[in-house]
Amino acid sequence: MANKDHYDVVVIGAGPGGMTAAMYASRANLSVLMLDRGIYGGNLNNTATIENYTGFKSIKGPELAQQMFDGSTQFGAEYAYGTVTKIEVNDDKTRTVFTDMDDQFIAKAIVIATGSEQRHLDVPGEDEFSGRGVSYCAVCDGAFFRDRPLIVVGGGDSAVEEGLYLANLASQVTVLVRGDKLRAQPLLQDEAMKNDKMKFIFNTSVTEIVGDDAKVTGVKTHNNKTGEDGEMPADGIFIYVGNVPMTKQFASLGITNGDGWIKTDNTMKTKISGIFAVGDVRETPLRQIATAVGDGSIAGQQVYQYIQSL
Ligand code: NAP
Repeated sequence: MANKDHYDVVVIGAGPGGMTAAMYASRANLSVLMLDRGIYGGNLNNTATIENYTGFKSIKGPELAQQMFDGSTQFGAEYAYGTVTKIEVNDDKTRTVFTDMDDQFIAKAIVIATGSEQRHLDVPGEDEFSGRGVSYCAVCDGAFFRDRPLIVVGGGDSAVEEGLYLANLASQVTVLVRGDKLRAQPLLQDEAMKNDKMKFIFNTSVTEIVGDDAKVTGVKTHNNKTGEDGEMPADGIFIYVGNVPMTKQFASLGITNGDGWIKTDNTMKTKISGIFAVGDVRETPLRQIATAVGDGSIAGQQVYQYIQSL
């Protein structure tokens, strides 16, 4: 629970972007509340190993999340649980943030840093077997599949990177790619192609996830080139088919684009004064820890200037 209901800044979401904005704003002596629907760290908590964040040759996602949290709260920023349901613009100077726990926080400025969540495949069996063989988090669930065959669906950085992590545990990782090529960075592709436990099958979509009474037993597939249907056995299915923005609760503000990503200028301002957005939730050409942190630092400083101008 937060200590009070009035803050200079409420940051919604405690991933790398939100934590950095909170750090910059609180270091500028603003009162800051960070709200998150879960544990701080955002998608860092679902990431096994990070090798492309400057300053760390290699670090585990949850470990980086903890270090960022310790840094972001050292100047007095508070952190509280709460799923934000709505933002209301009261007048020129204040906005109210509502949560599902019936809390209301009044702030001079708001930084939206809610990020994105993994897209679902939307095929039969996916919801039914979620947690019984269907997973979206290798670092959370990979250990359940030691020495067993797994399928990864997707062809981007996440599918290949998390597939590599799973290959350390599973007997085999088969990556099903719907098109004829991978989208992942060349370095990850090279590493995966060299890994004996990883196999790629292209032009193949999953049409259904099948199982018995207890758990997943495999997937039904469709070859997008030959039109052939097939079936593949596996004990676990890890789905990495991209992300969708977490912005449903902000739709009425009119600050998102057609796909739901928040539009900002290069100072992280949305079209509503006093409402900023940072990180993956933004309409941006690159979604990385480094870009989220960069956005957060700009927003933290811009929020200070905005509040001075009120
Ligand atoms: P992504 O880059 O959007 O890739 C999504 C992949 O899933 C694509 O291969 C796409 O195929 C496929 N896909 C989409 N819908 C599908 C469906 N219904 N059935 C089967 N396949 C489907 O997503 P991501 O890999 O999760 O990455 C998200 C962002 O995070 C990216 O910006 C990425 O660079 C970043 N990221 C970076 C790192 C890193 O730097 N180490 C690690 C993880 C993620 P098509 O290619 O045919 O569209």
